[in-house]
Amino acid sequence: MLRPAHVTAMTLGLALALGPGGLTPASRALGDETEPVVEPPEQFQPRIMEGYPDWYIERLAARERKIIDDLGARRNALGVRAGLILLNTEEWKPGSVITVAFNGGTPRLHALIERIASVWSQYGNIRFDFGRDASGHYRTWSPTDIDYKADIRVGFLPGGFWSAIGRDSINPDLNQPGNETLNLEGYDRSLPYQFARHIRHEFGHALGLEHEHQSPNFACDFRWDDDPGYVRTTDKSGQFVIDGQGRRPGIYTWFGGPPNNWSKTKIDFQLRQLTTLNPDIPVADYSVGQFDKLSIMKYYFDDCMYVSGKNSPCYSPGEIYELSAEDEKRIAMYYPVGGAVAMTRQVQKKAAIESVLTQIPQSSLLAKELQARKDQLQ
Ligand SMILES: [Zn+2]
Repeated sequence: MLRPAHVTAMTLGLALALGPGGLTPASRALGDETEPVVEPPEQFQPRIMEGYPDWYIERLAARERKIIDDLGARRNALGVRAGLILLNTEEWKPGSVITVAFNGGTPRLHALIERIASVWSQYGNIRFDFGRDASGHYRTWSPTDIDYKADIRVGFLPGGFWSAIGRDSINPDLNQPGNETLNLEGYDRSLPYQFARHIRHEFGHALGLEHEHQSPNFACDFRWDDDPGYVRTTDKSGQFVIDGQGRRPGIYTWFGGPPNNWSKTKIDFQLRQLTTLNPDIPVADYSVGQFDKLSIMKYYFDDCMYVSGKNSPCYSPGEIYELSAEDEKRIAMYYPVGGAVAMTRQVQKKAAIESVLTQIPQSSLLAKELQARKDQLQ
């Protein structure tokens, strides 16, 4: 009951990821490269969910604390909330070329990631540059780097699947040149069946998109708690499952157990509505579209994770592998095509920052960070 429909996901994932032509001619030219191996479905059990490692959640929280503490008694000043939301709007400048570098993996794997991630550029005025040279090798980064080798630094390290949101990847308070900012654990050894979805989802974060199931515009009816009387029951892999009386574990129990072993803090951080996590920021301050249950930025949850099961407005049947119509619209809104539209968006954002700067102490960290953000818009 708590498992995804692997067969459907597998077939769809492979079809979308590899396409009719298989790998690109450029990667074929490398000849003796090892093909990325795709794991058979039984090896992909139990399900590992995407989420930030604890160290990254701590960094994000520490940065926000630093900014709030620095405001002292002025933290309630008019404009602080608007300033925080502007700071957390992490998209890149429309029309930008965002550089990407890899640590580990083969050029063949890099080519696969490049091709799947680049789908975003079909809809938004933004492009990834993976730095492929004439010999078919891609841009690399290393943990010993002291300068940013690229805006997005892809790793295949332990820590699961995750990505920094937009420009956070080049914010030195959050990400140094020597740490990964988009992680695809183990892809350099074998590809999980959901790889096409992971790659599109993570590069969506890298473009500034947040989780759809955390949309400020809609509260999903998650079953946070166990059914009354639930007796903790696990399958062979240690994952919590329905007990002998048909009672179900809730989200806290399920995510808290193997293989994810998430703390309550982490579960809340990855699943709660953004408005619950940041109660001081009114919904109207977020610039998001209508809630979209088909978004690539939404986690897939089995129906039993929702109070109203398959009737939940947040339920989608099966994993999502492609961008939804709303995803396409949203990325086009963030990164408009056409200089005049893009300029309007920048002018509006600059004006909003300037307005906030008149309402908060000029010496505050928040003011300095907003000023830096405004300078980037020039
Ligand atoms: Zn995510």
